[in-house]
Amino acid sequence: MRKLIIAGNWKMFKTILEAIDLANGLKRNLFDVTTIDIVICPAFTSLAEVYEVISGSNLQLGAQDMHWEEQGAFTGGVSGLMVKDAGADFVILGHSERRIYFGETSQSVNKKIKAALKFNLTPIVCVGENLSQREENRTFEVIKQQLEECLDAIEKEEARKLVIAYEPVWAIGTGKTALPKQAQEVHKYIRSLLVKFYDEDLAGNLRIQYGGSVKPENIFQLISEEDIDGALVGGASLDAELFTSIVRNSLKVGK
Ligand code: PEP
Repeated sequence: MRKLIIAGNWKMFKTILEAIDLANGLKRNLFDVTTIDIVICPAFTSLAEVYEVISGSNLQLGAQDMHWEEQGAFTGGVSGLMVKDAGADFVILGHSERRIYFGETSQSVNKKIKAALKFNLTPIVCVGENLSQREENRTFEVIKQQLEECLDAIEKEEARKLVIAYEPVWAIGTGKTALPKQAQEVHKYIRSLLVKFYDEDLAGNLRIQYGGSVKPENIFQLISEEDIDGALVGGASLDAELFTSIVRNSLKVGK
C-alpha cells in the first residue's frame, strides 16, 4: 500500500506574513487528515516561520530546491543542511521551472538527491516531457533519460526514500491537465523503469505523484488511476480553500 502524498509548491509567491496566514488556514482546515501525507513548500525566506506554524501538526514542510554542497562560497545558494535546519523534511528537485530558467540538469539533480538524502530530506524528483517532445512521441525516451541520469549511482536502499513527480511541462501552469489515462500511462512506465533499475519491491512501494494544473475538479479522477499516488500542486496550492478541496477530494478515492 502506498500512502498518498499531496504537496503544494508555492513557487516564488507569498511574503512571510502571507505564508504564515496560508499555513494557518491549511492547519485549521486539514487537521483531521491522517491518511494522506500533506507537504507544503514555501519559498526559502518563509521556511522557518512556516515550520513554527505547522510543527506538531499533520502538515509537513518542504523546500523548493537546494544546493548539493553543504556550505561554501556559492553566493545565493541554500544547502540541504540549511533547509533541514529550517525545519524541512522534503525538497523538490529538478522542477521544470528550475530546468528551464536556471539551467538545472539531471546531472545536477543527481548530485542534489545524494546530498538531500545525506541530510535526511526526502527528495521529490521531478521529471516530464515538454510539448514538442510529446508531439514527437518521445515522452518515454525523455522520461527514461531523465530518470537514468537523476538516479545514477543511487543504491536501492537510498532510492526507496524518494518520491517521483511526473510533471508534463506542457501541463504546468497552463490550465491543461494530462488526461488521467495519459498520466497513468507514463506513471506505469516510470514504475516499469524502477523495476528495471532496482526491483519489483522498490517499484511497488515508491510513490509517483502527478503534477500539472491539478485542481479540486480533476484530482479525484487522476488519483483514481492505479499508479498515481498523489499530486504536486502549484497554482491551486496558493489558496487555502482550493488546496483543502484537493486534499479532501483525494480522501474520497479511498486508496
Ligand atoms: C508545479 O509547479 O509543480 C505545478 C504542477 O504547477 P501547476 O499546478 O500550477 O500547474
